Amino acid sequence: MGTGQELYKKAKNLIPGGTMLLSKRPEMFLPDFWPSYFSRAKGCSVWDLDNNEFVDMSIMGIGTNTLGYGYDAVDTAVIETVKKGNMSTLNCPEEVYLAEKLIEINPWAEMVRFARSGGEANSISIRIARAASGRDKVAICGYHGWHDWYLSANHNGSDDLSSHLIGGLSPRGVPKNLKDTVFPFNYNNFNELLEIVNNNEIGVIKMEVLRNIAPEDDFLHKVRKLATDKNIVLIFDECTSGFRETFGGIYKKFGVEPDMAMFGKTIGNGYALTAVVGRKSVMEAAQSTFISSTFWTERIGPTAALATLKAMEEIQSWEIITSLGNVMREGWQQLADTNGLNITISGIPSLSTYSFDSDNYLEYKTFVSQEMLSRGYLASTNFYASIAHNKTNINLYLDSLNEVFSIISDCEKGHKNIKELLKGPVCHSGFKRLN
Ligand code: PMP
Repeated sequence: MGTGQELYKKAKNLIPGGTMLLSKRPEMFLPDFWPSYFSRAKGCSVWDLDNNEFVDMSIMGIGTNTLGYGYDAVDTAVIETVKKGNMSTLNCPEEVYLAEKLIEINPWAEMVRFARSGGEANSISIRIARAASGRDKVAICGYHGWHDWYLSANHNGSDDLSSHLIGGLSPRGVPKNLKDTVFPFNYNNFNELLEIVNNNEIGVIKMEVLRNIAPEDDFLHKVRKLATDKNIVLIFDECTSGFRETFGGIYKKFGVEPDMAMFGKTIGNGYALTAVVGRKSVMEAAQSTFISSTFWTERIGPTAALATLKAMEEIQSWEIITSLGNVMREGWQQLADTNGLNITISGIPSLSTYSFDSDNYLEYKTFVSQEMLSRGYLASTNFYASIAHNKTNINLYLDSLNEVFSIISDCEKGHKNIKELLKGPVCHSGFKRLN
């Protein structure tokens, strides 16, 4: 057992859940054998605590690093800030420069607030939007963080978030009084949203613009018109989709503008910065309530975001990662066809996932992580692209994956038993993201 697994055993006694993010729990990949901790990361390479190097062909820090790990221009800017001072009694000017830049990228917006996590940015936008509309009730479609306002949807009666996040999520600790304040609707189901709006005093509609399925039947335009007609604040959560298909929100592809939008993840290339941008008429409601936090004023986040935006714009990184994502998808499909396996590919190209169409899909997913790890890859059944990836490392990965798919094919044909091939327990299933 590696040093990382030893440390993770300790962590589980010290940290409830073992780690701060569900998606980075070793059990989500390869229970008992995942390297778990990194000592160093650069480009698309990650070194574990035993100094083994792996090529990261999986979630790339959960989609934070589209420029790759340790991108020089961003790190240099951050190091300069560390030298000059990260905190003081006065504010950092970078937050103003960054606000200006984000408004340039989102010309319909006039004001910006910053935070450090996606969940925080979501809570901020909900507070402002509720204050602006004067109504408490919210319709949602997608994943919007861990906070009370969102998780309270699971108090409504059934497992309401099961089709947006994960089945069976307990809202314990979330006040039951929040029951029936948040109403989930399914993507592309405009009539469902209409019914929610007609039967409740909805003040806010919050949604991910696109996750796995493309909008159909003018869905986004209909949502926009409904929000406008009913004086509802429309919020696009671009924490994950932003800067992956355009220089800004994915909404730009569909010609629909929200009243507020959130950006996160890739905007700081691994440094913490999230932003809420919005129309002045809505954003000014922030002044009628209380939204304030100490570490939202530190300097590394906005410094990193300014440097990341500059690099993304110069390189047009969204084009590169989309094209690499498409190369990967074609590669997966070709391997599946060659080996007689059925897989389903989903997500936008730069955040691609596949699943095996088999009762043993979780066993196979675990087996992919196990076998690819021994071949030098951090891998699961997904690929979050960065500009540090390229066709060469994708093709090398696919060569290795072909060997694994061939064994899985033998299992599907009944020639081998997947349960005997796994060295440890099966991985846990993750977020479903059905929208
Ligand atoms: N909104 C969306 C659309 C997300 O994908 C995520 C994170 N996966 C969040 C909000 C929450 O962000 P964080 O994990 O930084 O709190």
